[in-house]
Amino acid sequence: MSGRKIILSMCLPVAETLKPYQVNFRLFQLAGYGSVKSIPKREFPIYYEKEKKLFQIVVRMSDAPGSLMSILEVLGRKVNLIATSTYTLGDGTAILSAFSEPLSSTETIAGIQKALGSSPVTIESDVTEGKGGLLVDTFHSGLQVGGEDYMLLRRAGLSGVFDHIVKIFGTGGEVLLYEEGLAMAQRNAKNMNDLLTPEVVGPNTSYLIEFLTAQGWGVFEPTAGKGSHEGTVKMSHCFECEHGSTVRKHCDFMRGYFEGSANFTLGVSMQVEELECALRGDKACIYRVTHRKKSGQA
Ligand SMILES: [Zn+2]
Repeated sequence: MSGRKIILSMCLPVAETLKPYQVNFRLFQLAGYGSVKSIPKREFPIYYEKEKKLFQIVVRMSDAPGSLMSILEVLGRKVNLIATSTYTLGDGTAILSAFSEPLSSTETIAGIQKALGSSPVTIESDVTEGKGGLLVDTFHSGLQVGGEDYMLLRRAGLSGVFDHIVKIFGTGGEVLLYEEGLAMAQRNAKNMNDLLTPEVVGPNTSYLIEFLTAQGWGVFEPTAGKGSHEGTVKMSHCFECEHGSTVRKHCDFMRGYFEGSANFTLGVSMQVEELECALRGDKACIYRVTHRKKSGQA
């Protein structure tokens, strides 16, 4: 049947005729057309939907034009996709990992694997079934960003660690957090220089700050000041303060982080003060970056 070859909903005028060959992303149904507002990326190391039958599908396929389409066509006959991630392995192959719910309640692991085997681009596949509406990603082991190993951490969890440090050590804890921010920024900046070279990092620092936003640290609005490299940075949705605190009144880690980044990148000694902070009732945190005054200077 030639109709089976058509899987994209935009190819067919009537939604009813799509079933069961559509590739249905439930999240995409909400999106519509036009510009898309910035949102946090959805990662799916775990998914729960009460008593729902769920499968994780992992396919290694040839990394050639049309490969992904071929796999989606096969999967569209078997499952609704809840989430997917796709990436090249750089060796002529690519991975598709998907969380999905079957179109039929009698669907099996073997049934999905057989369907995947019918595509000429499939090299190997692995399908696992969840338990009682729960599906955990049993294929991946952490994240890789720019060749570096990363892990996911709850923002509120980390903020809670900061609270605990200040509860135990008081103002000494605040100094500790500032020093940790300073040290981590210098290590990260060195790492970024090694990865991209200083020639690339130097002129692109205000663009590279978006990298922190993409990682979920917060949203940054830098404004240039009068002196060279001086200015302010407004930070909203800051991981250090967004979840509130009963003991902290400022974002000491981020103040250290800004200072460490500026010192390393500019090669001069900068000083950072946090003028406003969400922990003190302000709308966002505002940092002022200035050259550090030499001792004895007014
Ligand atoms: Zn703050």
